[in-house]
Amino acid sequence: MGRTKRSLEHRLERIEYRRGTFEKGTKLEDLPVSIWQGNQITAYLHDAIETEDLFALDGVYGDERAGWPVQIDELKLISADETVEIIVLNRAIILLLYDDDEVRRIHRVLFKLDESERRSMAGSSTSSGKTTWSGRVVSVQPRIRLSRSFDERSHNYLGYVLLIDGTCDGEPGEFLIAVGEAAHRKHRFEAGMELSGSSAPVEDERKETASLYKTSGIKVVKKAEGETPAGPPFRGLPPDLETYRFRGHRRLAARTYDAKCTECIWGCRMPVEMTIDHWNPSRKKYRFETFCYGPKSCPSYRPGPERKVPRRHGMSYTEEDWVDEEETAHRGPDD
Ligand code: SF4
Repeated sequence: MGRTKRSLEHRLERIEYRRGTFEKGTKLEDLPVSIWQGNQITAYLHDAIETEDLFALDGVYGDERAGWPVQIDELKLISADETVEIIVLNRAIILLLYDDDEVRRIHRVLFKLDESERRSMAGSSTSSGKTTWSGRVVSVQPRIRLSRSFDERSHNYLGYVLLIDGTCDGEPGEFLIAVGEAAHRKHRFEAGMELSGSSAPVEDERKETASLYKTSGIKVVKKAEGETPAGPPFRGLPPDLETYRFRGHRRLAARTYDAKCTECIWGCRMPVEMTIDHWNPSRKKYRFETFCYGPKSCPSYRPGPERKVPRRHGMSYTEEDWVDEEETAHRGPDD
């Protein structure tokens, strides 16, 4: 049975991630290890581990018989009072051939750890501070930052986030690139295009969902081809930011977003900055929230639990359903 989610922000002290292939005679300790501790464990990583509830997944997953030599990932989450050790055997094959929700949850966090390591290496290895990338656009979503203070909220419309499947600083994989609205007006980003460009590693991962931003030198290598399939998820050309603002959003369950909405132009994962104390506005907390700007009739939509905004002295404000109903009341079910 899964444990209740707990706030990791002040508990997780160290992450150790070993990975490689495992043959007869290899010891786990022989595999290369990456370590994050203290401030290196960013809010982005905290959030990923909490969202996937990895503290409840202590154990061994996958199947050693699925491939040889065995691909092995070992993740240790070390806090003051416990160490959780997660081992996945033949992760790539299991993801491809088995419907295993726990391995998918672990994979999403391992992917972000790889991404975090690649980003810090890119930041330290390029003299311009920028890293070059290229690849196919998997999805385009709006890049919107949310500020909360008790029951008040405001949005900052910054541009778009591109999920790219390609090569970043010579490393193959998927990665998120932040771009401005002017770049979208010029290039009209949509899934299926092939692009190249250069971007800088994000300095404060609490304030961006992308790992790279300050993007320049964008080139369209190939335009998207073929018909856009009917949604959901809805693909094609995303609208301008004013259209998102006008439409308004409803909260979207984080798990639904991860499972069904990452490729939809109406999905959005927002970095959220919360002011806890009006009298001490520098006291902030950060997290990520997921939202849907799409048709209210979308069959994939699930709201998830109501969200609480913390306030000083342990108080909180609960954002109830009427807030979303009011914000999208001007739209019909299929708009
Ligand atoms: S729930 Fe919203 S974001 Fe998800 S597929 Fe439907 S319209 Fe897109």
